Amino acid sequence: MEPVRLGLVGIGKIARDQHLPAIAADGDFVLAAYASRHGRIDGVQGYHDITEMAAACPLDAVSLCTPPDGRYQQALTAIRVGLHVMLEKPPAVTLSHIAALEQAAREAGVTLFATWHSREAAGVAPARAWLADRTITAVRIDWREDIRRWHPGQEWILGPGGFGVFDPGINALSIATEILPHELFVESATMDVPEGRASPLAASIAMRCGDAPVQVEFDFLQTGPQTWSIEVDTDAGTLRLAMGGSILQLPGEDETTQPDREYPRLYARFSELIAAGRSDVDVRPLRLVSDTFLIADRRVTEPFAV
Ligand code: NAP
Repeated sequence: MEPVRLGLVGIGKIARDQHLPAIAADGDFVLAAYASRHGRIDGVQGYHDITEMAAACPLDAVSLCTPPDGRYQQALTAIRVGLHVMLEKPPAVTLSHIAALEQAAREAGVTLFATWHSREAAGVAPARAWLADRTITAVRIDWREDIRRWHPGQEWILGPGGFGVFDPGINALSIATEILPHELFVESATMDVPEGRASPLAASIAMRCGDAPVQVEFDFLQTGPQTWSIEVDTDAGTLRLAMGGSILQLPGEDETTQPDREYPRLYARFSELIAAGRSDVDVRPLRLVSDTFLIADRRVTEPFAV
């Protein structure tokens, strides 16, 4: 089979850190073009935006690495000209946007892949398998990182549709919805939103998974050790996932870890979906964020500069 001619859109942190190396190492794809207003990739044809790129360059697919706000229009533009589309997380700002994209992709006969990179972390699949026939009694999710360390200058993240602390936090929800054997429901929440901003710097959420309470803490002001962990208490002991799902500890066993293969796995999956003529869109993590935004008690905190 000829490699898929791919256009990469939004040449920022994640495009450079993860997408470019994963694409370069995957023989099923060739990077044919990119669209970015400021980013440059040596030796690859660049365009200002996706409309210009799709009109000028023969492509089979695009991968969108832009912030979530605006991604709906970019994805729709690509689908309407018959391109397969891979979306960074979160897949869209609203649930109706992602539903409209699913329908447009179905009508156009193209693949839509809403990625959740954290689900590809090494500990996630074995955690899911281990939890499948356990009784869950309690879950604790702690996702605490320093916005200034990981997102310097990303003003969009605290704007409307920027998700705030839910930008990393949705990764935890993507893992939880993947490994827990029952659906999650939001029961109550508080969110801290800095004055003059639209999206929160912190959130505390009470959820439920079957009969088990699930306590979720998201914090964007964590200095010192950074924490991306999920603990699941069961009738057979406590399962722990740490470092975003890359470290797994089962009760009574040593920690296990593997080299990071999240983005190579995402591109391998995109290639399989295109070959099979299928889409993969799971909105459950986005639905939990949306429910939290609807139900949360919002506290306005002091102004904050990213
Ligand atoms: P970023 O560094 O700000 O890069 C985003 C790029 O998108 C920018 O370089 C910009 O390129 C383009 N863009 C288009 N419209 C934009 C707008 N209205 N505002 C700002 N930039 C715009 O962001 P990122 O960290 O790569 O994150 C992008 C997406 O990847 C997010 O959905 C995020 O959740 C996801 N992600 C990020 C990470 C991470 O570690 N940073 C990890 C996993 C997933 P031009 O200005 O040149 O057009």
